[in-house]
Amino acid sequence: MAEKSPDAVGRRGFLRRAALGAAAFAPTTAAAQSPDAGQPRQAGQLIPSDIALRVKALESLLVEKGMVNPADIDATIELYEHRVGPRNGARVVARAWVDAAYKKRLLDPATATQAIAELGYSGGQGEHMVVVENTSRVHNLVVCTLCSCYPWPTLGLPPVWYKSSPYRSRAVIDPRGVLKEFGLELPSDVEVRVWDSTAETRYLVLPERPSGTETMTEADLAALVTRDSMVGVAKVNGGRG
Ligand code: FE
Repeated sequence: MAEKSPDAVGRRGFLRRAALGAAAFAPTTAAAQSPDAGQPRQAGQLIPSDIALRVKALESLLVEKGMVNPADIDATIELYEHRVGPRNGARVVARAWVDAAYKKRLLDPATATQAIAELGYSGGQGEHMVVVENTSRVHNLVVCTLCSCYPWPTLGLPPVWYKSSPYRSRAVIDPRGVLKEFGLELPSDVEVRVWDSTAETRYLVLPERPSGTETMTEADLAALVTRDSMVGVAKVNGGRG
């Protein structure tokens, strides 16, 4: 059978190669000969980061000892990589835009979690949801200053920047500056509210519905909604014409 590319080998192949030792990860491309060869790389790297290696080592050990089932781990990763993600949250947002009664339930902290579950999105890291609405006068921004608490059932896994310490600290110290770096400059009369997600409460931003979308269907509206707009680092753009 033909050798698969490193990407196609996937996680199990990674574990096999990890078992062969670091030599199995030796750079083989011309790019690896660049001046920074040998330096740790965060993206597109051939040599996994320390944390990735540590996770794989732990996983290998737990599997070897029969404490976890590799198929369960693969199924969980498949779930969060491919089936759970920001499109879930986008459907929640679009429903709120077209259904005033739904929006009311969604914005009430007492019923928000249930309203989200009505669309089928519930479970771990989304047990207690609070939804905050962006308007022309108020812009909400979500952060987890302590670690990386994030609403998995509606947004999937958090992006790297959300977990980074500069975002976590600066979002509360200088939210307007952070938003500007994301390309969002807000007028000074717009109030910025920053919400600190915790293990108990996760926040989702209900972005403003863009103008020009009055005739769009719920599905088309959902397609406009981005992950960043539901974290509050962007607005929803678009609409026809
Ligand atoms: Fe956290």
